[in-house]
Amino acid sequence: ATPTAVMVASGIGASQGVLIKGGDALEKAHKVKTIVFDKTGTLTVGKPAVVSAVLFPDFSMEVLCDMAISVEASSEHPIAKAVVAHAKNLRKKSGSCPEEVPDVVDFEVHMGAGVSGKVGDRTVLVGNRRLMNAFNVTISSAAEKYISENENLARTCVLVSINGKIAGAFSVSDPVKPEAKRVIQFLHSMGITSVIVTGDNHATATAIANEVGIDQVFAETDPVGKADKVKELQMKGMTVAMVGDGINDSPALVAADVGMAIGAGTDVAIEAADIVLVKSNLEDVITAIDLSRKTMSRIR
Ligand code: ADP
Ligand code: MG
Repeated sequence: ATPTAVMVASGIGASQGVLIKGGDALEKAHKVKTIVFDKTGTLTVGKPAVVSAVLFPDFSMEVLCDMAISVEASSEHPIAKAVVAHAKNLRKKSGSCPEEVPDVVDFEVHMGAGVSGKVGDRTVLVGNRRLMNAFNVTISSAAEKYISENENLARTCVLVSINGKIAGAFSVSDPVKPEAKRVIQFLHSMGITSVIVTGDNHATATAIANEVGIDQVFAETDPVGKADKVKELQMKGMTVAMVGDGINDSPALVAADVGMAIGAGTDVAIEAADIVLVKSNLEDVITAIDLSRKTMSRIR
């Protein structure tokens, strides 16, 4: 496209909340055949909330909650904030919410898995199955049952282990954005296929994919894995767009022919992307492609 055409299109985009950083993305967007979507914060609202909790034998609700609060308080992850809020509520309801929970030491973040630390003489892990497996914590059949029931409802389970035993779990729900299904359907009618990539587990990702009509699921992927998935699709000869909001999406946003960041997302994602969807509305994925189609057909 000519510099003038790019300028005009950028102006129209900006007025609609679609920031296009340069002509390259604008020229490629109309060729997109596959769009890879991150799950949390992209397809979903990104405000997870705990909807249920379970306590396993030999542990008390007080200890479960205090340990979860102590360790998750140091995490920036939205799931951590949901767990802390819920655990504090449970403690308040029991009428014995302590002013302060004990401090955590040796706090560690395990990317795409959870967090760990020591609280007093207790070693605590808070995270998914993968985290428990990595630390050789056995998941009891009761825990397994709770996990699979909730994952099939598109929820994410947060397991808490204390000194190597699963003490309890929280089930976290993060609803899909109201426009998600409509947008995926419309993209399909445009001949564009959709893919979901997520660090979350396979069952939860599949439940979300089914809910919005996405055909391909790649779960339990780390940031590099997300980028590899984009490259794999490109190697099949497709022009690929990636839509994401997190730090963990930035390698994939860079790898994609067209990287689109959710405006409400992290600065790192916004910097890595070619296009920013300021309103954080998935409809604007279509707006961006439309703008590219119109620009490119006008100059040809
Ligand atoms: P996504 O790709 O969906 O944005 P992440 O890579 O951030 O997901 O996290 C993947 C998974 O790791 C989460 O679904 C959750 O199971 C687990 N996880 C990550 N951080 C935490 C945490 N602070 N507390 C509990 N679980 C966590
Ligand atoms: Mg995300």
